[in-house]
Amino acid sequence: MSLIVQKFGGSSVANADRVRNVARIVTETYRRGHSVVVVLSAQGDTTDDLIAKAREINPKASKREMDMLLSTGEQISIALCAMAIEGMGYQVVSLTGWQAGMLTNSAYGGARIKRIRTERIQRELDKRKIVLVAGFQGINKYDDITTLGRGGSDTSAVALAACLHADLCQIYTDVDGVYTADPRKVKGAYKLEEITFDEMLELASLGAQVLHNRSVEMAKRYNVNLEVLSSFSGVPGTKVKEVVKTMEKSHVSGVAKDKDVARIALIGLADEPGIAFKVFSLLARGRINVDIILQSIGRSESKDISFTVARGDMEQAQALLEKNRDTLGFNSIEVNDQVAKVSVVGAGMVNNSGVAAKMFEALFSAGININMISTSEIKISVLVDERDADRAVQAVHDRFFSEFGSGN
Ligand code: ADP
Ligand code: ASP
Ligand code: MG
Repeated sequence: MSLIVQKFGGSSVANADRVRNVARIVTETYRRGHSVVVVLSAQGDTTDDLIAKAREINPKASKREMDMLLSTGEQISIALCAMAIEGMGYQVVSLTGWQAGMLTNSAYGGARIKRIRTERIQRELDKRKIVLVAGFQGINKYDDITTLGRGGSDTSAVALAACLHADLCQIYTDVDGVYTADPRKVKGAYKLEEITFDEMLELASLGAQVLHNRSVEMAKRYNVNLEVLSSFSGVPGTKVKEVVKTMEKSHVSGVAKDKDVARIALIGLADEPGIAFKVFSLLARGRINVDIILQSIGRSESKDISFTVARGDMEQAQALLEKNRDTLGFNSIEVNDQVAKVSVVGAGMVNNSGVAAKMFEALFSAGININMISTSEIKISVLVDERDADRAVQAVHDRFFSEFGSGN
């Protein structure tokens, strides 16, 4: 007998029929003799709806109260699903984050799991109960409810799988697995049988929302046996693992788009040592994460630095830089939140020259201008205008994954 953690996302529990469908999948697994821990997300668009409700009341609500509100969505799901499973005649118990011992730090809205006190879950499993846990939430040292950030139920599931030493962690969603690009948007995207943790981490961090990036990070660290599959189709999904069979063959495993980007350019900085240090240490002190950085070659003792931040940080970054204009000594500041980042990811690209050229050629052929470029061993990202982003993803995907899914 093995222990399996199964996580179901919002669309998998969106209405009564789907909750019953989840109950069926869970109880079938249980009937095969496994212990089952189930992590659920809020139904459908519940979390978005709750955010909208909060904005109606107070657009500047504190993060603590936001977490108090948002955590209710997951609680509804676990209660309803427990009722469905009860109705089928199985022993089941639903647990909120705190009942499940999910201890986090105090970063409301983006809390990190510190540890899980698994005793309660273990006791329930020992009684042969199916255990349902509310995803996306935990409790901090002040006994306040925290949430893990949007999409965080994946991380709840992987964390539970790691702490309970589960044999398998299955992430059930509304697509059949991890694709070479978002299958809802990109024609010709196809399902990957398997993908490495590193590639999946890059894809998730670069905008492929199919897995929360922190869940992949955790799965890699604790070597969790992870699988992404559909709660509707019943076909085999994608295995996410340390090493995959196909690694040597393909150079690129996926294309991703991230719209949560804004570009800031500082024009006319002095071309002297210490300027970059001053700019980025200021932003770091303001807790603003910077992603792609581009510095122009100095001319006439003057240079420009542009960089990207998350859209939500743009205004704060701009205000901080303006406030320090005299110390930094720039002429003007330009901001643009109508940009998007398009990336290709692949563990194989490190040993294959020409991947960047192929990507740039695809963008050129589609008449798309590149604003910025950044590369690492396993990814190449470009910043483009947001209105070009979908076309850019399609063009790049077409170039690497032609007809039979092996174009690279
Ligand atoms: P859930 O509610 O189950 O957590 P999400 O909406 O968070 O589901 O993630 C699933 C969605 O991720 C899919 O519907 C798909 O549109 C999107 N997606 C983006 N990139 C990819 C990709 N490379 N492979 C599969 N799905 C992707
Ligand atoms: N319900 C939360 C969200 O919509 C968490 C999740 O679905 O993983 O972001
Ligand atoms: Mg999700």
